[in-house]
Amino acid sequence: MISRNELLETKPLIISGPCSVASEKQILEIAIELESMGVKAIRCQLWKPRTMPESFQGIGEEGISWIKRVKKETSLIIVMEVTDKDQISKLKGVADVLWIGARNMQNFELLKAVGNDPRPVILKRGLISTMKEWIGAAHYTGIDKTILCERGIRTGADSTRFTLDINSALVAKYDHNMPVLTDPSHSAGRRDLIAPLSYASIAAGLDGLIIESHTNPDEELVDRDQTIDMRMLSEIISNVNKIRYSLNG
Ligand code: PEP
Ligand code: MN
Repeated sequence: MISRNELLETKPLIISGPCSVASEKQILEIAIELESMGVKAIRCQLWKPRTMPESFQGIGEEGISWIKRVKKETSLIIVMEVTDKDQISKLKGVADVLWIGARNMQNFELLKAVGNDPRPVILKRGLISTMKEWIGAAHYTGIDKTILCERGIRTGADSTRFTLDINSALVAKYDHNMPVLTDPSHSAGRRDLIAPLSYASIAAGLDGLIIESHTNPDEELVDRDQTIDMRMLSEIISNVNKIRYSLNG
């Protein structure tokens, strides 16, 4: 089992992959591409919390065997969202890292169940959560095994999907001693802002990024407008490494 510290040895930690798992072929193809680019961790979402019931809800349990194949054929760290307590045991031996989405940040029974599992946790900030609520949630999921993720909050700024609150990400790091990633994809909601928001996050000294990527972004079923291709991802990775090196040596 990978520990939080081992995960954070890759500086910055880049977690990438599609918004949603759609087919075995899709996720394998993306996984192989990510591994060849030196990305360490892949995001795999089988269950999608969606605003409307008629929207694609994720492929569900059917996808577990596909992720097992990714695990077998690559050395990628598998990061998977859980939306229900029962999924935690179903993903035993499959997910290396559990992730709680923004909409479940205060689903306390789910947080407690994830807290009782030994695997590290990525805890996304709720859409309008305060610092106290975010850190409180991390106490449920396990303060020593949780990595926070600032994914953009709802503010008066209406020109982008959400507002990337780098201020709070830094406060979580400085005042609460937590590792913090950002998710430029959900904050921005559009492809052309992913690179600059990634650079801002890494230049600020944050620990890594979650970026939605696809070998053919226009095929993505969910969040297509913010999903970047592998070329752009590779350019971002190369530049964040340069930024980190120029600041830290
Ligand atoms: C996602 O990562 O695809 C997602 C739905 O994120 P969030 O929970 O931050 O909205
Ligand atoms: Mn998404």
